[in-house]
Amino acid sequence: MPFELAFLPKSGRSATDWWFVFCGDKLLVKTTPTDTRIPSYSDLSRVERNLSSVHYLGTFDGLPCYSAEADGHIINPEGMVFQERRPLLGLLGEEVFSVAARAFQVLHWDRTHQFCGRCGSRTALKEDERARACTRCGLVCYPTMSPAIIVAVVKGSELLLARSRRFQADFYSVLAGFVEYGETLEQCVKREVKEEAGIDVGNIRYLASQPWPFPDTLMVGFAADYAGGVISADDVEIRDAGWFKADNLPAIPPKGSIARLLIDWFVEKYG
Ligand SMILES: [Zn+2]
Repeated sequence: MPFELAFLPKSGRSATDWWFVFCGDKLLVKTTPTDTRIPSYSDLSRVERNLSSVHYLGTFDGLPCYSAEADGHIINPEGMVFQERRPLLGLLGEEVFSVAARAFQVLHWDRTHQFCGRCGSRTALKEDERARACTRCGLVCYPTMSPAIIVAVVKGSELLLARSRRFQADFYSVLAGFVEYGETLEQCVKREVKEEAGIDVGNIRYLASQPWPFPDTLMVGFAADYAGGVISADDVEIRDAGWFKADNLPAIPPKGSIARLLIDWFVEKYG
């Protein structure tokens, strides 16, 4: 694993450090016609005064990584642009994208926990761990994340795919949904598939997971077997759903997402 999580840097800032700078939801990247990269500290000398909420993240390939927020007055440094996050998965590659995802999630948490949820007073960053503590009542808030399941439901040699009302792109994907309080991941898989597609499932087994920074989800991926029912899309979350064979798939999500990883798993196993 080239990324090593850490809370405190081992040394002061250096020109080669990687800086993940966000303005709103967009990330600052260096671009050439053939390449998209994360800027280093030396690239940021002219905009450093526009940066706030600096967090040390750890190291990637041995180089220290920081996240920071740029204020709305920042002017794009030469050769750099603020890029929407979703296309970055393809532009940066999975490993660097995953560091950018960490950077965004830390900033998102920091932005949304400036005030205490209990008494409304200001919070301040703790010095000994990644947390914010209330300056009045002492309530401590750690970085939050929202677990969600995503599941490849298989019936014989067919995969359940659905077109979501949430997807911007017009493709079919495996089902997903957020975990409710008090629910196990397996219970969540059963409930989501039943609610969204009217299908019962069993033999649920874990396959993989992926942090997904839109804004703070941890996707937990499963496979499950069809155990009964007839497809009836709920028409709230799902526009339509169907069973698809590996050699006859509709348009599916691009590589890099866990949704695609589960579909590729199905094609490998049942194709
Ligand atoms: Zn408080």
